[in-house]
Amino acid sequence: MEAGLVDTHCHLHMDNYRKDRQAVIERARKEGVTLMITIGIDLGDSQAALALAQGEKDVLCTLGFHPHGAGRVTREDLSLLEEMARHEKVVALGEMGLDYYRDLSPRRVQQRVFADQLELAKALGKPVVIHCRDAYRDLIRIMREHQAYQVRGIIHCFSGDWNAALIFLDMGFFLSFAGNLTYPRAENLREIFKKTPGDRLLMETDAPFLTPQDRRGKRNEPAFIKYTYRLGAKLKGLELEDWINQVAINVRGAFPSLPNLHYIESLP
Ligand SMILES: [Zn+2]
Ligand SMILES: [Zn+2]
Repeated sequence: MEAGLVDTHCHLHMDNYRKDRQAVIERARKEGVTLMITIGIDLGDSQAALALAQGEKDVLCTLGFHPHGAGRVTREDLSLLEEMARHEKVVALGEMGLDYYRDLSPRRVQQRVFADQLELAKALGKPVVIHCRDAYRDLIRIMREHQAYQVRGIIHCFSGDWNAALIFLDMGFFLSFAGNLTYPRAENLREIFKKTPGDRLLMETDAPFLTPQDRRGKRNEPAFIKYTYRLGAKLKGLELEDWINQVAINVRGAFPSLPNLHYIESLP
């Protein structure tokens, strides 16, 4: 079977799609999206992510605590997450990480909640989806302290410099690029994308956020990932088909439990 488009990071279960979620999913399928991974950001939101994944055969999910809400995470939340994370449709933990750009939770607490989730991922044998803004130094330190190379995973919506990129690649991580790759002023990001080995890249929408340039101003949705794929192929000097195939291989590398879901026909 031909590989399809994979949106490795969207928030499809969120309220932004309350009124037309089914239509949004249908539009994605029509554009050739064969797999969508919907990403949890807190306990309640992660429950919603898992519920959606259980209801749609081409939707998988991750569960986690975003740094924005780290200040509200309790011990009990972490063990509830651990329970839920055993479900086979949960293909990674996250998003987790550090965000010093918005600084919505105290930095110390962000760091602790991130470290706790890295340990949890290690215990569960699941990869991690990492969110980082303006905090690469601390993020890398914590990843080293907690042997993140053992769990591996994805740096989602990569926004760091080439030095940070090299460190993540060294640790076995994948770099994922969102719709902001298409923005006129994202020249630095496109340079990093070009330099990153093609077998370590992923594509995402981060929908409903970061709508690609072609649709900028609208709510983002998984169907729009085609724009980011098109640019990705161009930057890599590949035919779109070949780029789609390469990313499908990368998706399997990034989410090692996918083969267990062989009953899903649309797996890359
Ligand atoms: Zn994020
Ligand atoms: Zn996100």
